[in-house]
Amino acid sequence: MTTIDQYDFSNKRALIRVDFNVPLNERMEVSDETRIKAAMPTVQLILEKGGSVVLMSHLGRPKSGPEAKFSLRHVKPALEKLLGKEVKFAENCIGEEANKLSSGLKAGEVLLLENLRFHKEEEAGDEFFAGRLAEHGDCYVNDAFGTAHRAHASTTIVARFFPKDKMFGHLVAGEIESIDKVLNSDEKPVLAIIGGAKVSSKITILESLLPKVDRLIIGGGMAYTFVKAGGGKIGNSLVEDEYLETAAELLKQAEAQNVSVYLPEDTRIADEFRNDASTDVCPTDTIPDGWMGLDIGPETVKRFEEVIGSSKIILWNGPMGVFEMDSFAQGTISIAKALVVATEAGSFTLVGGGDSVAAVNKYGLAERVSYVSTGGGAMLEYLEGKELPGIAAIREG
Ligand code: AMP
Repeated sequence: MTTIDQYDFSNKRALIRVDFNVPLNERMEVSDETRIKAAMPTVQLILEKGGSVVLMSHLGRPKSGPEAKFSLRHVKPALEKLLGKEVKFAENCIGEEANKLSSGLKAGEVLLLENLRFHKEEEAGDEFFAGRLAEHGDCYVNDAFGTAHRAHASTTIVARFFPKDKMFGHLVAGEIESIDKVLNSDEKPVLAIIGGAKVSSKITILESLLPKVDRLIIGGGMAYTFVKAGGGKIGNSLVEDEYLETAAELLKQAEAQNVSVYLPEDTRIADEFRNDASTDVCPTDTIPDGWMGLDIGPETVKRFEEVIGSSKIILWNGPMGVFEMDSFAQGTISIAKALVVATEAGSFTLVGGGDSVAAVNKYGLAERVSYVSTGGGAMLEYLEGKELPGIAAIREG
């Protein structure tokens, strides 16, 4: 498969699907440039290699047709600042004006197209629409991992028009490489740390990880369903009673597959779901009625730190407690810090999934783990072993 490192971009127009779905403030300025910055290595490399660039993305969820608040024009100033050059803008991602701009591009120039989702054909994966997008490029680069699990026109269908000239950008290549490193590692032990609110949303990933890992830490709200399934008393903690059997079955499967499972031994409990609630610490299987577990306790933190410190490959998805409230953030902070220590000692650490990524960013630790995945849903589906349409479209043929 061709990568952007090998491809000859000189005097070619690269049509790049990026993820510029960024937050805007009330003045319609980009309030977090992370995603734009993440696309820069790919864009810069293509420009350095003598190509020109046509950038396409979605922004927000426009309902039917163009809406000013979802215009990608708002992203242009931030993009120009990061690139250090002027960027041309097409008011519509397809059509005469856009074609005139893209066909007139000279080496080193950049064109940004208006929001793809102003056309319903984008999400419908319409082939005719994809063909009109394809007119803007001599080659196609997919650098939007966050939408790789969708078979949209710009993420998947458009690749058909470039049978020999399609490739992944650095961002997508990095995501695939990092997840593959966890899934197909020769190094051991491999540890997955899964937290967050619900067993129901993580059960598929837990099941698909079992054959791939040696150790599994289960934390966050979902741990209480496992503790209750094992006969523990969990007071008023979050629980999914309809998943008790599933949880018990998963623990059995783990044992059969020689996976060591670590559940929280102790828990920080609260009498109300509030930052200023009364709190205490108790064993996770004897939480008094009227109290709920909102974070892992100090003994658990120590135990989890040891497990992390002695693992070689570590995947983390989902917080250990209600980290949005400072009183219950300590468990999540400790895990993030333990990951940094493990990274410094030579382990490979991958953080993925909205809330754990938010946590490492909040504590300023994102640069100190091996890889932070940008694609929440896409990453989970890839970990679950599903074939992502956007990735398959580049690999096929
Ligand atoms: P998820 O989106 O499934 O990864 O869940 C993340 C959410 O789980 C965060 O908003 C946390 O506040 C929440 N969470 C973590 N631990 C607990 C807990 N012990 N009780 C209730 N919610 C929790």
